[in-house]
Amino acid sequence: KDVNVDSPYNLEEEKKVLEGSDNIGYFIEKKLHVWCRQSRGVWAFGTIEATSGEESFVSLANENVVKVSTSHLFPANPEILDGVDDLMHLSYLNEPSVLHNLKYRYSCDMIYSKAGAVLIAVNPFKDVEIYGKDFVTAYKQKSTDSPHVFDIAATAYNDMMNDGVSQSLIISGEYGAGKTETAKFAMKYLTAVGGGKVEIEGQLLYASCILEAFGNAKTSRNDNASRFGELVEIHFTEVGEISGVKIETCKHTRVVELDPAERSYHIFYQLCAGAPQTLRERLFLKKADEYNYLAQSDCLVINDVDDSEEFHKLMEALDIVQISNEDKDQVFKMLSAVLWLGNISFQVIDNENHVEASNDEALISAARLLGCASHDLNQALCAHTIHADKGSDKGSIVKKFTLQQASDARDALAKWIYAYLFDWLVEKINKLLDVGKQHDGRSISILDIYGFESCKKNSFEQLCINYANERLQQHFNRHLLKLEQEEYELDGIDGVKVDFVDNQECLDLFEKKSIGLLSLLDEESNSPDANDSTFVSKLKQHLSGNSCFKGDKSRAFGVRHFAGEVLYDTNGFLKKNQDTLNTELIELLSSCESQFPQTFAIKMLNQSLNPDVPKQGVGIQLKGQLFKLMHQLENTKPHFICCIKPNRKQLPSMYDDDLVLQQLRCCGVFEVVRISRYGYPARMTHQKFAERYGSLLLETNVSQDPLSISVAVLKQFNVLPEMYQIGYTKLYLRTGQIGALEDWRKQV
Ligand code: ATP
Ligand code: MG
Repeated sequence: KDVNVDSPYNLEEEKKVLEGSDNIGYFIEKKLHVWCRQSRGVWAFGTIEATSGEESFVSLANENVVKVSTSHLFPANPEILDGVDDLMHLSYLNEPSVLHNLKYRYSCDMIYSKAGAVLIAVNPFKDVEIYGKDFVTAYKQKSTDSPHVFDIAATAYNDMMNDGVSQSLIISGEYGAGKTETAKFAMKYLTAVGGGKVEIEGQLLYASCILEAFGNAKTSRNDNASRFGELVEIHFTEVGEISGVKIETCKHTRVVELDPAERSYHIFYQLCAGAPQTLRERLFLKKADEYNYLAQSDCLVINDVDDSEEFHKLMEALDIVQISNEDKDQVFKMLSAVLWLGNISFQVIDNENHVEASNDEALISAARLLGCASHDLNQALCAHTIHADKGSDKGSIVKKFTLQQASDARDALAKWIYAYLFDWLVEKINKLLDVGKQHDGRSISILDIYGFESCKKNSFEQLCINYANERLQQHFNRHLLKLEQEEYELDGIDGVKVDFVDNQECLDLFEKKSIGLLSLLDEESNSPDANDSTFVSKLKQHLSGNSCFKGDKSRAFGVRHFAGEVLYDTNGFLKKNQDTLNTELIELLSSCESQFPQTFAIKMLNQSLNPDVPKQGVGIQLKGQLFKLMHQLENTKPHFICCIKPNRKQLPSMYDDDLVLQQLRCCGVFEVVRISRYGYPARMTHQKFAERYGSLLLETNVSQDPLSISVAVLKQFNVLPEMYQIGYTKLYLRTGQIGALEDWRKQV
């Protein structure tokens, strides 16, 4: 049966990045196995039967014979290479071969593979039982080196111990790809090998559990989506024991608006479902569906998750990280206050549409939880006092709010309390975990942020998330591709050149001073006459020259991200970017009887009085936080883990070729494999190499300069010329060579 192939892909474009296509003539001649593209992008494995002109006839495994354009054929690897654990070892690195290899491994529950320097983790969406103590021990004792998150954590740990240099594990991937789980497994390994005397293992894992409850939420795409980014810095002593942990976060808030099928942060539902009777009474607590902030989306539960049970786990975790009963009480009070704030409604009181809050259960409960009079809360939410300039004879003017303004003030207050609560928790956890206090500079940092998202409707949240991912991708490109190639070039090493897509242009779109997207957003957020439409016009005016920007006719705009184009709807952008409270609310909080609102208000006042901290919107703040995180990472040796989700349904044993391919392409895996294969992953200065291996020399008549010693060592051990190159300052070796020399060294 003949099937004509119609390809929806730009094959010319793809050919450029594919490898092995030059050899296809040989494959045709020898009638070898090939991959051919079928309709809808499916790859089929077959053997070439005959070729005429530009067309070939390929017999597939199901015995069908298909007619395929010869340019749609790619060489397949011999069967013996099926399932190799490092993609670098494939003879042909074309896309179908790489896909097949990962799929083959995935079908055997081997979810980890290496792509040269990068660890690929394909989300199994089920328990694969490879994280027990026996696995920790095996990687610790180096009795296995098959790809695993423990393996990369072990490498980082050993590198840190050997070289005294801080390391980092940088985890990337789209939403739901498994970054947070991977980060937790890495922590598990590191705390197990560096546990020492301190009870840190349990504490760190429980701390993650708390931050997840307060910082993660169910979205329509991931039941446990991170809504904050974190860098966990684990410090070690000289003997390799953990001396302390520091957690840094960057976040964005989403308490007040939810899309259908999304939930707010887990903690709200856990509290509503699991709080015991006495606590419920103290908090005036209701069921989740009675709170507007939660009930606005039709999703209140997560399949297979019992919120009440999760609440009990959380209570246990709070005990383990030594949050006192009084503090716990304060935390819960604030959570309940946030929920009650969302239920406050307003009624119009005059013909200018001014409002006041209804004096009902919501207002009264929120005020009692915060520790203020409901009358004062009402006032602070519904009016703003403009103080006359000094010397002016006019008194202060009270400006009453309209419904919209009052609702905005209420929502801002709720968001703000939650944000400070989260920061308070992080601070508290850091105090507990920063055990030794004195760190001598050895650390392993683990970076886990929210993954790239492209939804049906994308808003400010997605913009922040995707911008952060651009930053991360830049770090990845810089270390694995750019710096690597620059180093070869500078040191006179040739033959290693791989093209890659630099995302600098997209970062410029966001970050350019005064005319970048984030600056423009800030400017508009602070301008009284601006609205979402004026914001879009401004973007079009200033950003049209950037090839990553796409203006749209409506109030939307598009951005070409490294992982695909995303259309953002600017509805609500300016409001979501604002991160300030009016003075009335700050004053109200500082006069509250409860301890937390007071502490938060003082902190806020200190920050706003500090002239070094300009009033910034959420977007610009995120930029600052990311710069800080990236700067911290620059001083470490990075190890990269690339998480891949094999399907969008969060289901086990389901592998969508196209989805995987698209993620591999976007995150630059093909380029990394290529550079690793043609490159020289091991390198040492001539000096260091001579010092380390010079003692192995049998011949004594060698000139004593480091270069001569190094060359003599290589000769003595018959290291083949294609296995190394000599640079101006360093010696570059292919994979495996150092291992062999080390073995010799141990025997001496
Ligand atoms: P986001 O960017 O939205 O935060 P993420 O990349 O952090 O997503 P995770 O929350 O780590 O994704 O993973 C999503 C789900 O996939 C997990 O809740 C878990 O069910 C499953 N999962 C991920 N990794 C593993 C693993 N190694 N073993 C078993 N299940 C996993
Ligand atoms: Mg996550």
